Amino acid sequence: MSNATFVPDGATYWAHYDHISEINGSFNIFEKMWAAWYSWIANDVLATGIMSFVMHELVYFGRSLPWMICDAIPYFQRWKIQNQKLPTAAQQWRCIKSVLFTHFVIELPQIWLFHPLAEAAGMSTDVPFPSWTTMAIQIAIFFVLEDAWHYWFHRMFHWGPFYKHIHKIHHEHSAPFGLAAEYAHPVEVLMLGIGSVFIPVAYCWFFTDFHVLTMYIWICLRLFQAIDAHSGYDFPWSLHHFIPFWAGASHHDVHHEKFIGNYASSFRWWDYVLDTQAGPEAQQRRRDKKRAERDAKALREQQKLSMESMGKEAAIMGSQIKYVEDKKSM
Ligand SMILES: [Zn+2]
Ligand SMILES: [Zn+2]
Repeated sequence: MSNATFVPDGATYWAHYDHISEINGSFNIFEKMWAAWYSWIANDVLATGIMSFVMHELVYFGRSLPWMICDAIPYFQRWKIQNQKLPTAAQQWRCIKSVLFTHFVIELPQIWLFHPLAEAAGMSTDVPFPSWTTMAIQIAIFFVLEDAWHYWFHRMFHWGPFYKHIHKIHHEHSAPFGLAAEYAHPVEVLMLGIGSVFIPVAYCWFFTDFHVLTMYIWICLRLFQAIDAHSGYDFPWSLHHFIPFWAGASHHDVHHEKFIGNYASSFRWWDYVLDTQAGPEAQQRRRDKKRAERDAKALREQQKLSMESMGKEAAIMGSQIKYVEDKKSM
């Protein structure tokens, strides 16, 4: 931010805001507030770091709160997928403490590292903001790429030693709840967090056309996705009923219940294409497929055997005919 720095040192945030309003009357209110924030802090890394961390905490706990309320009201249990397993107050409190620990120890450094890396890659913090269509396209790309990253690393975390020493913590809750979205071993938080934080940096590196506001919106939407997927609630109006390839709670809840399958975060296509879907229907489908393959193999072998025996019979008949013909010609 190079503009709007002609206000005295120690001036209030609103003095910066007024100054920006004077010199850039065409900006909308959000753009003025944004520019005033960066001008007031006078350190872009710090401005992005504080805003990102505060936003992350507000969205994480703010989005988890409605699910905690739903868990406390019996009326909502008709939409709870595993309604016989509700989180206790002790479980939720332990979860809050653990999540706060990883937020400060793992995610805060990631957040701090993001700005200098993204800025070096060409990220902008200036106003005016990019168009909604530009942001929407970039966020859609991040959703697709993060989903692939999440699928492979999550699947890797289910491999013996990784599961035992790292991912098992996240699976402590076989019936998940909103707050449990980031309840995980620090190594897992770090590895899966890379998909959310550094895919946008890589995008910026290749295409340069990237604004930090897009990053904020992307992180908010990704948090909504993760918390809702762990909520344990599948309403008739849940998104996957309208967008069939959207994963949602019904996809991830089965993962926690069955411990295997449904590894992706936002979409269902990786699990569908690689045949790693979880749940009784998918298991039945896999059993049917195996049985059909076994039956087809047995049929092929039977056909081969009967062809071989027919061949042998034909050979014997051929030699008999030849013997008779040879006799006649003698
Ligand atoms: Zn898992
Ligand atoms: Zn989970």
